[in-house]
Order: sequence, then structure tokens, then C-alpha cells
Amino acid sequence: MDIAAVIVAAGRGLRAKQGGGDLPKQYRTLANQPVLQRTLRAFFEHPRISQIVAVIHDDDLPLFQNATEAYGEGSISWVKGGEMRQDSVVAGLEALQSQAPGGVLIHDGARPLVSPNLIDRVIDALEHAEAVLPALPVTDTLRRSENGMAAETVDRTNLIRAQTPQAFRFEPILAAHNAARTEGRNDFTDDAQIAQWAGLEVALVAGEPTNIKLTNTEDFEVAERMIQAGGEWRTGTGSDVHRFGDGDHVTLCGVRIDHDRSLLGHSDADVGLHALTDALLGAIGDGDIGAHFPPNDPKWSGAASDIFLADAAKRIAARGGRIANVDVTLICEQPKIGPHRDAMRERTAAILGIDVERVSVKATTTEGLGFTGRAEGIAAQASASVWLPPR
Ligand code: MG
Repeated sequence: MDIAAVIVAAGRGLRAKQGGGDLPKQYRTLANQPVLQRTLRAFFEHPRISQIVAVIHDDDLPLFQNATEAYGEGSISWVKGGEMRQDSVVAGLEALQSQAPGGVLIHDGARPLVSPNLIDRVIDALEHAEAVLPALPVTDTLRRSENGMAAETVDRTNLIRAQTPQAFRFEPILAAHNAARTEGRNDFTDDAQIAQWAGLEVALVAGEPTNIKLTNTEDFEVAERMIQAGGEWRTGTGSDVHRFGDGDHVTLCGVRIDHDRSLLGHSDADVGLHALTDALLGAIGDGDIGAHFPPNDPKWSGAASDIFLADAAKRIAARGGRIANVDVTLICEQPKIGPHRDAMRERTAAILGIDVERVSVKATTTEGLGFTGRAEGIAAQASASVWLPPR
């Protein structure tokens, strides 16, 4: 069965907004990434989802474009949502009508921790059902409250908590939504209720405790901790050499230093930043500096190496990662690095957008041995530690 996904993200998220800045909750940052970017990725990377429609608020288009930049323009389509959640879902379903998928998953944009297993589970169940609802049993004792005091206990037998993604055969759920609209019913809080109201049988599958709907600030803290616990550490190394030629200065780790010779190279020949760029790219397995900035491309002639380093940092950010620390060793007899070390650390930190205490610049000589010892050129080595969120 051809399966599409509608991600509902048109809400204003007023509860999470409290203390959370001015952004709707689906665009707030969670572990370095907009919430919606993470939610969309779960479906974007799932092999059984053929197309995705995000339903967004008119005002949020720039935020949406930012959140989906990593997936390539046009890879995730969007439609404008409506006043109520129901209206938004209908807009999403109508956008899929011409492709007429066999099934559709409808998911809250504010549930970024949905797992591939849960997506598989609801799709599997849809083979034998018209509608599928992932749910969890209620384990806490349920009480009513009255004026701040505990009132009666509610029987929790057979009570379940409804989650998303909810899965439906496409034509029946669209018909159910249209019927609800015709009858002026707009009081449903999820799509399984509408399916049931329209007479569809709703099968249950096990939901996931981790598939939380981000509602208030505490939910963001819990989700952040879960993501951090599931991520992984990467390290990368890089090295570079440039030879000396005529000139009056060198640029090392972004700092210009007067010298009686210059380093030759296509760009500004900053060996420190080149080695570091390769270390960062190495940590995320994304090629090397030459692959992204070909040395035969005249565009990079004389370029400040800031560009290369900033690009590597951007690639890490696009993966939702962060740089824990970087360490550069410059290998040369001259010029003396010590007097410039702090300026180099500050410049490197500024390009990467991280604290200066996360940046180390060291220097060594080779005791007069080899090409660095003979002052024919300067070499550099670098390493980087990067944290990446779970895929
Ligand atoms: Mg180089």
C-alpha cells in the first residue's frame, strides 16, 4: 500500500509559548534543531512513506523553510492550515487527493520523538484495518480535582491515552472528515475520533511512552534529555601542509601574522583552519575540504579560509549536532605562535560559533628536522569532537 503522511503543524502552541519565547512550539529549538525538523525527519527517512505534506500556519513560512532546508527545497510539500485542527487535517488530505495514496498517517508536528518502529507498527496494522490508533494504558490513578482539593477517584479500567501517528485508509478518512464538516462537527481532538464517529473500526496498537507531545516547558526539558541520551560522540582528524614562498605575512587560524615569507596556496593557505575543517568534516563523515571547495575552482582563489570552516560548522548544525571541542597543532620553527595563540583561539571560536574554552591552539617545532625544520613550509594537525543526535 502506498502510504503518505500529513504532519499537522499549524497550531500556535500557546501553552509552550509561556516562557518559551515568541516561537510556536513546533519551531522552538530542541537539541539544536527546530522541533518540526526532527518530526519531519522521522517520516522523511522512513522507507515506507512515499510523500509528506506539512500543514503550516501562514505566518510560519520562513520558519518552515528554515526547518526543512536540510531536506532540499520542495522535498516536503506544505499547505496552509485552517482555524481548527480538523480544518488543517482536511487541507493536508485534500493536498494528497490527486495522488490518492492507499493509506495516510496523520501525525502531530509536536511529537518529534516518534520512532521508526512505531511508524512500522501502525502501517502494518493498517493492512488489516481501516483506521489504527497507537495508545498506551493509563497507569496513574486518576482523580478529579475541585477547588485545588482532591475529589473522587475515576475508574481507569480500559482507559487509554491516544497518540499519533494515527493511520487510515485514505478515501474513508477523507470522507469522514468531509462528513464531519458538512454536519458542522468541529469538536474532535484527533482523527481516530472522527473515523469512529463516521462508523470506521479503529484498531489499537501499542504506542510509545517516549512519543511525547511537547506541550509545556517541562516536556521540552524531558525530550531534550531523551535526545541527549540517545545521541553519539564522533571524532575526526585533519592535517595539512603549505609551502613557503615570497611574501610578507602568513595567516594561521584566521590571524594575520607579519613574517618574511608567505604560505603558498590557492586560498589564503591557512593550514590551521584547513586541517581543522577536515577534522570537523571527518567527524561527520562528510568528505573533505577539497570535495566541497575544489582547488581548481577560481571562485576560491585567495579566499579567506573562514568560509571553509564556517561551512563545516553549518553542516554539523544541519545534522542537529554540536561541536564539543577542537584542537589544532601548528608545526613550524617560525613564526612564533605563542604571542598569537589567544587571538587564534578567539578567531576560530568566533567562526565556529562556540565558546573559546572549547578551542585549543598549540604549536610545536620539529627540532630543525624535516621540511618544517628547514622552514620550507608549515604543517598543521587538528582533531574535533562532535555530538550528533540519534538518526
Ligand atoms: Mg590546505
